[in-house]
Amino acid sequence: MITDRQRSLHPNDAEISNWSGSISFRPSYVEAPRSEEAMCAIVRQAARRGLKVRPMGRRHSSSLIIATDDVAVSMENMCGLINHDTEERWALVGAGTDLDDMGRALNEVGLAVHNLGDINVQTAVGAISTCTHGSGRRLTNLATMLIGGRMVTADGEVQEIGRDILHAARGSMGTLGLFTALKLRLLPRYRLRRREWCTTMDECFGQVEELSRGSRNLDMYWYPRSDRAKLRMLDPPGEGPERIRGAKLVMAREGWSNEVLSRKRTLRFDEMEYAMPIEAGPECFLEVRKRVMEHHRRTVGWRVLYRYVASDDAYLSTAHGRDTVTISLHQNNTLPYDAYFNDMEEIFLRYGGRPHWGKKHSLSAEELEPLYPKWAEFRRIRRKLDPEGVFLTDYMSRLLEGR
Ligand SMILES: Cc1cc2nc3c(=O)[nH]c(=O)nc-3n(C[C@H](O)[C@H](O)[C@H](O)COP(=O)(O)OP(=O)(O)OC[C@H]3O[C@@H](n4cnc5c(N)ncnc54)[C@H](O)[C@@H]3O)c2cc1C
Repeated sequence: MITDRQRSLHPNDAEISNWSGSISFRPSYVEAPRSEEAMCAIVRQAARRGLKVRPMGRRHSSSLIIATDDVAVSMENMCGLINHDTEERWALVGAGTDLDDMGRALNEVGLAVHNLGDINVQTAVGAISTCTHGSGRRLTNLATMLIGGRMVTADGEVQEIGRDILHAARGSMGTLGLFTALKLRLLPRYRLRRREWCTTMDECFGQVEELSRGSRNLDMYWYPRSDRAKLRMLDPPGEGPERIRGAKLVMAREGWSNEVLSRKRTLRFDEMEYAMPIEAGPECFLEVRKRVMEHHRRTVGWRVLYRYVASDDAYLSTAHGRDTVTISLHQNNTLPYDAYFNDMEEIFLRYGGRPHWGKKHSLSAEELEPLYPKWAEFRRIRRKLDPEGVFLTDYMSRLLEGR
């Protein structure tokens, strides 16, 4: 047992950056606790001294949700599979476990997550805290896996993540408490065939809606410079279309879901992503494409990604209450992104878009509240759990409270 007296915060003068390098901050203290007791002591000390606490996973977010001038808490020592039940399909994992390690450990005990995003190096807690998602019309985001667990609250006590706060906890960006262990709803492990098809926008876009209905996971990448496109599909072996009109199969690989759903990314980029109602997806994308072709084609380094996410009921989920299409703009981190992202954001907002919490956007509480029917309910729970705002940096306060 570590008491507050034994423990003092670790001073820091090094700068911390996010993965893309577009965000950097210099917290006065950096902590990497190895136990819930240590985490409780950190929160109590910070609260007593009026310092703000911000937890960090793998810092793959490119919004200011990871930044603080005060106390940064890394989850790197809170990892691993703690408990599981293969028959009842759940597992309890250390919140800092990365999705790749978690996928391997779960596979060994016959379990798997229902989906993954483009990469799998994020922590489980980072993915759940920002509603990270993959693609698939019938597949919800990763936050929906959360069915319980434990957290350290603003008073430095450990609390269960109970049913009463689950809808707020999914996608809460570290504002309800520091999650230490996550109980996740899972599937029996399953195999998938990953296939990638090269095509052109003119050939493929008219088919995308229909293809997305017939495939487990489908997403589309559009490359503005060449105006070519890639379709990525993952289906149970033997399922999914064998041919796509006007497209050439360039890659096929079968494996366990945790081996084939994600890819490794070496090219670093910044990203803006908005989630629109599914019906608005095609028209919004065509407007995005037109604007990029007319104004940004010379400066856009990389690609635009089109994906599907099924509706859920987490209060701050970007797919709350509606099936969703997401459109992401990827810009190499060596190139300017401001003018490009700002110009495109106006289009996303006209289509009722909600910004990804972990990517670039310019919104704050005033603009966000009307987009989320359960915003007030989230705020009530947050204020009850953290009345003094220990987990509210200035940015988080502007984002969620408007001040
Ligand atoms: C190359 C790349 C690919 C990506 N692909 C996708 C994709 O396919 N789909 C998608 O939706 N997103 C994607 N993202 C975004 C990414 O999944 C999210 O930003 C995710 O939150 C990053 O996880 P992380 O472990 O790096 O967490 P961080 O970015 O470090 O933190 C994310 C949030 O989790 C909170 N947090 C951390 N630890 C705790 C804790 N113990 N308790 C409570 N809160 C905590 C942080 O405070 C922060 O609010 C991608 C990002 C990159 C850079």
